[in-house]
Amino acid sequence: MEDCIFCKIVKKEIPAEVLQETPDAVIIKDIHPSAPVHYLVISKKHVASVKEIPHEDEAFVGHLVHAAKDGAEKLGLKGYKLVFNVGREGGQVIDHIHLHILGGWGEKEKKSINV
Ligand code: 5GP
Ligand code: ZN
Repeated sequence: MEDCIFCKIVKKEIPAEVLQETPDAVIIKDIHPSAPVHYLVISKKHVASVKEIPHEDEAFVGHLVHAAKDGAEKLGLKGYKLVFNVGREGGQVIDHIHLHILGGWGEKEKKSINV
């Protein structure tokens, strides 16, 4: 989709630090990290948010979660959070579906991160 920053990253039109790529997704380092380790699993297909996931495409989210699992393994994370922000009220800023991989907290910080 034109004018979508994540579509441009997928097409390599704007640079990003890529961790790995799968047939369905690209995993990049977040430029404004909210955790000691913060990556984004970006779908190669432009879907605006979780709300727009096509009903008939049940595998869609599965691919993103599998990519996140492999990415987290590559990053050496023993534990992590996977987060979809959905809609403005849910904290979503970029309208191209992405799964946040958050981790790398120390022992003390872990106590204050549970939702
Ligand atoms: P959202 O709030 O939409 O769930 O998350 C968007 C995320 O994308 C934010 O964590 C933000 O820091 C990250 N981000 C925004 N623009 C860019 C960019 O151009 N490159 C990278 N690597 N991350 C970005
Ligand atoms: Zn897009």
